[in-house]
Amino acid sequence: MSRANIASTLRAPSELVDHGLARAADLADLENVAARYAVAIDPADPNDPIARQFVPSANELVSEACERADPIGDRRHSPVAGIVHRYPDRVLFKLVHVCAVYCRFCFRREMVGPGKDSAMSDQAYAEALGYIRARKEIWEVILTGGDPLMLSERRLARIMQDLAAIDHVRIIRIHTRIPVADPDRITDGMVAALRTDGATTWVALHANHARELTDRARASIARLVDAGIPMVSQSVLLAGVNDDAGTLEALMRAFVECRIKPYYLHHGDLAPGTAHLRTTLARGQDLMRALRGRVSGLCQPDYVLDIPGGAGKSPVGPSYITPQQSFVGERELRQETRYRIADYCGEVHLYPPGP
Ligand code: SF4
Repeated sequence: MSRANIASTLRAPSELVDHGLARAADLADLENVAARYAVAIDPADPNDPIARQFVPSANELVSEACERADPIGDRRHSPVAGIVHRYPDRVLFKLVHVCAVYCRFCFRREMVGPGKDSAMSDQAYAEALGYIRARKEIWEVILTGGDPLMLSERRLARIMQDLAAIDHVRIIRIHTRIPVADPDRITDGMVAALRTDGATTWVALHANHARELTDRARASIARLVDAGIPMVSQSVLLAGVNDDAGTLEALMRAFVECRIKPYYLHHGDLAPGTAHLRTTLARGQDLMRALRGRVSGLCQPDYVLDIPGGAGKSPVGPSYITPQQSFVGERELRQETRYRIADYCGEVHLYPPGP
């Protein structure tokens, strides 16, 4: 059997290690994933979309020339350890390099994971906080990592209070997979730690398939939302996981049913060894067009691309408007721009020029 065939038929973490598809050092983590997602993974399906996100594949051994260790250019915008300052009014604050599960497509896979620097030193934390404190333009701090909800309740409460004590920090946004990957971690104590006077907390949940939103996951999300914490979603468009309109529709509907506003659908980043999980931009645009015809605006995420190298995020969804120039007038020809607007069925309508 070829390595690729082995990858698609073996599931047990120890078998993957035996066949050289996973490192023995990663066995405990893989077993963790298998245990946590046992309810969501269909063991009879060799192409199960949940397993595909976490089970190593021989395809990861192939790196494309365009791929890079730091695909979205975090390092270029990191003035002090733990901080990424790419846009004027917000920073990323990377507190930890560990996660509850390790996604095979992770855009920070070279920085995140077992064996990487796990926690920030007290000195680095103080310097990062000092950087935020000294810049009044920073309105929003985005806690990311790794997964910030891997920290203890006590440590999280301290961090939230430290940030909220800075007058100009009004929003603290937490990016996490924990409500789906380890829902029992969202305890009342954790929820209390996330709420703080002086700033508004938002939680962005990372999930890529409706089946990740199990009953336990939904209960953990309800604990956050019931406590008054607004939630948004982020998903990655992944080949063989969610790259069809029906699957995306089910995912977006599930988010909204859980009181999570769909926010981002990321185009896959150029992380090393992830080409087999990426789609083309054209496929992503087709899917977004299909989604617009199937679900309301409430269920629409922004399809975005992090421009490789660090230039930031841009919306890359389909356009529905095409300017059309024509000449009008009987005595003197004048150029005017009308617009061709496509509706959700793809039919084109003309819109007049001028206000
Ligand atoms: S949860 Fe996020 S940071 Fe952690 S492995 Fe997955 S994509 Fe990477």
